[in-house]
Amino acid sequence: MVKKKTKNPRQFGARYGMRLRRRWQEIEEKQRRYHECPTCKRLAVKRIASGIWGCRRCGAKFTGGAYVPTTGMMKTVEKALRRVGGGDVTV
Ligand SMILES: [Zn+2]
Repeated sequence: MVKKKTKNPRQFGARYGMRLRRRWQEIEEKQRRYHECPTCKRLAVKRIASGIWGCRRCGAKFTGGAYVPTTGMMKTVEKALRRVGGGDVTV
């Protein structure tokens, strides 16, 4: 069995090295977990796509960070959401 590393470690090139790679793994782990929904406050939010999060409980779809639901990247994310064409959006 091939040892599974991060999705695409090569995208970082040689510039960033181990520290960033380790950080990337932390982020990956975080994004796999459920997050709190801003609408129903339940831990039922999963990442649908980069920056797009959906609640399995109440069906709310909202934008957030690419890796965790809360960062200051809302502008970028809004663009991404338009591409996906999400229904009712709560930011
Ligand atoms: Zn919810």
